[in-house]
Amino acid sequence: MGWEIVPDERTFRVRWDDGKVAEYDWEPLRRACPCAYCSGEGAFAGNVNPDTKFSETQTTLKEVYAVGRYGLTPEWADGHDTGIYTFKLLRRAAGLD
Ligand SMILES: [Zn+2]
Repeated sequence: MGWEIVPDERTFRVRWDDGKVAEYDWEPLRRACPCAYCSGEGAFAGNVNPDTKFSETQTTLKEVYAVGRYGLTPEWADGHDTGIYTFKLLRRAAGLD
């Protein structure tokens, strides 16, 4: 698989091994951050919900790193980089699985 950050469109494009291509707009991608701080864990509700307002910096994708063979971690322009987006989550979000 391969991926690219497309700043002009503020989107993140992934080409999967099966040839399918998915695009993820930066803001919804940031909003879906699965880390404990953003989405919560156990009894802790998390800091991000559908009403959360993000700054442009928070929704600007700087870099994306592979996490083992199961996921990706985006680094956002505000330095937030604790979300691990599993391939399963990303494929499901794109309606591929
Ligand atoms: Zn997060």
